[in-house]
Amino acid sequence: MKIIMLGAPGAGKGTQAKMLAAKYDIPHISTGDIFRANIKNGTELGAKAKEYMDKGLLVPDELVVDLIMDRFQADDCKNGYILDGFPRTIPQAEALDKALAAVGESIDYAINVEVPDENIVNRMSGRRACVGCGATYHIKYSPTKVEGKCDTCGADLIIRDDDKPETVLNRLNVYHEQTQPLIDFYSAKGVMKEVDGTVDMNDVFDAIVAILGE
Ligand code: ADP
Ligand code: AMP
Repeated sequence: MKIIMLGAPGAGKGTQAKMLAAKYDIPHISTGDIFRANIKNGTELGAKAKEYMDKGLLVPDELVVDLIMDRFQADDCKNGYILDGFPRTIPQAEALDKALAAVGESIDYAINVEVPDENIVNRMSGRRACVGCGATYHIKYSPTKVEGKCDTCGADLIIRDDDKPETVLNRLNVYHEQTQPLIDFYSAKGVMKEVDGTVDMNDVFDAIVAILGE
C-alpha cells in the first residue's frame, strides 16, 4: 500500500504516519526527518537544506526528488510506504507519478489531515522532538512522562528550529501556495481522502484506518 500524508505543517502527518507504519508494517518516510538527520550528521546535503528550512522555505525540488527516488530502492519499500512531507509541490508529485508509472505502479491513497491555520501555531509551539529517536510529543496534547525526556529512548527533547512562530507563519504561507494544490492533483486521480485533524490523535487514526481498511 502506497500512501501520501497531506496537510499543513503541524497538522499531525508525522504523528499519524508513525502509527500507520506500525499498524500496516510499512516504512514511514519523512523527507523532513531525512534532512534533519543530514543536518545532524553534518553532510553537504544537510548544510544546503538547512539554509531553506531555517527560513521556512521548501528545499529545491531537485534535491528532494533525487533523495526520495534513492530511498524507494531500499528493500523495506517492496510492500509500500507512507510518505510524510513528500510530495510538497506539483513538480515533485509529477516526478513521483512518472517514477511509479515507469514500473506500473501508482499511489493508492492521499490522506489530507485537515487542521485550520488558527490551530497550527499552537500545535507547533508545543511540539517537542526527541534528539535520539525522532519521536514527537506535544507539551499539552501528548506529554512525556518525565518533562524534557523521551518516553521511548530517554534522550533530551528539543524545540525544532523551524517551529518558532515567525517561521511557522512563513511555512503556512508556503504550504498554501505550493503544497495545497496537491489536493486537486490527487482528487483528479481519485485517490484523495480527507480526515478531520482537529480531534484527538487516536480518533484521527481511527478515521484513517476506516479509509484504508483493517
Ligand atoms: P506534522 O508532521 O504534520 O508537521 P506532527 O505530527 O509533528 O505534524 O504534529 C504537530 C504537533 O501537534 C506535535 O507536537 C503533535 O504531538 C501534535 N499533534 C498531532 N496530532 C494532534 C492532534 N490530533 N491533537 C492535538 N495535537 C496533535
Ligand atoms: P517537515 O518535517 O515535513 O515539517 O519538513 C521540515 C522542512 O524540511 C520543510 O519546511 C522544508 O524546508 C523541508 N522539506 C521537507 N520535505 C520537503 C519537500 N518534499 N520539499 C521541499 N522541502 C521539504
